Amino acid sequence: MTSLIRNCVKNMSAYVPGEQPADVNVVKLNTNENPYPPSPQVRRALKMIKGDNLRRYPDPECGKLRAVIAKLHKCAETRVFTGNGSDEILALCTKAFVEDKQTIAFFDPSYSLYPVLAKIRNVKSRAIKLDKNFEWRMPPADAALFFMTNPNAPTGILYPKNEVAKFCRKSRGVVVLDEAYVDFSRYNCLDLALKLKNTLVLRTLSKSYSLAGLRLGYAIGAPELIAALYKIKDSYNVDRVAQELATAALRDQAYMRRNVRRIMAGRRKLSEGLLKLNFAVFPSETNFVWVKPQGISAEQLYRLLCRQKIFVRYFSRELTRDYLRITVGTDEQINKLIKAIARIMKMKAMEMENK
Ligand code: PMP
Repeated sequence: MTSLIRNCVKNMSAYVPGEQPADVNVVKLNTNENPYPPSPQVRRALKMIKGDNLRRYPDPECGKLRAVIAKLHKCAETRVFTGNGSDEILALCTKAFVEDKQTIAFFDPSYSLYPVLAKIRNVKSRAIKLDKNFEWRMPPADAALFFMTNPNAPTGILYPKNEVAKFCRKSRGVVVLDEAYVDFSRYNCLDLALKLKNTLVLRTLSKSYSLAGLRLGYAIGAPELIAALYKIKDSYNVDRVAQELATAALRDQAYMRRNVRRIMAGRRKLSEGLLKLNFAVFPSETNFVWVKPQGISAEQLYRLLCRQKIFVRYFSRELTRDYLRITVGTDEQINKLIKAIARIMKMKAMEMENK
């Protein structure tokens, strides 16, 4: 009997998200969520939503939300696309911009969803290895679609803007600058998406706006690319509640900026705490830090922290297996984590002495 499932689906592995434990009392520093609540304006907007109205479909074009985003970035509405999280937009890009025989490229390590999307689309992918400092030299520019996370995840490193611009200009295909974490960075590359015909910038409300549970991402770029995404999207890809709440969140820029400043202060505290424990800590421009523990393997530390209900992210692939990615939490969470690591390191040192 022939298989009911496409070969490419049979042979692929699904994307593995970080654990989402049901227990809300764990210290959860594994999926780069924001530890602080969203803007009070979001709560107000939520209260205003009338359950009765949910019997009607939402605006398929997200008109009001699109206008708010366009105003925020001082661009035409025709340059804005909204999606059910930026993950949805990444998947739509693989459908809109890549022919069957073409290639999707990205740096490695970067967001581990990209190779999975290439597999689903059943096209070749090219993972371009970063160097030992997790930096890059100009990669080949011939892929139909290049996903560039900037600042990068899981490393937290922000790439030099002139190099990014040079690459976008050289590239023969579409370049998606995935700026999921850019509100925590010194600069962004939005102007490239407003200038170049082949470059999209992707943003999300999941991190700096504390709305990972809402699912709202958006793309900005050339009207031709945006129109292609509109053509192939689900009719009602962003629900009524998400449209209302995202509009409220984006209108409260002052709250988001304050929230980001708190995270940046936490990032300093976390980095300093880990440096004191002799960890190698990469300079982060995101809401997480990328660190290499000393005196204990990353995997063992990850497991011992899990036992104490402290969740951080460990990627077991060769390129990343010596490192941990730790989301910046509240001060209390950071203190708990640092104390737990210090205890583990002490135990480890005693073990070594007794050997
Ligand atoms: N891009 C990167 C680099 C990410 O780390 C994430 C979050 N996992 C996303 C995109 C997806 O964000 P969203 O919640 O908007 O789908």
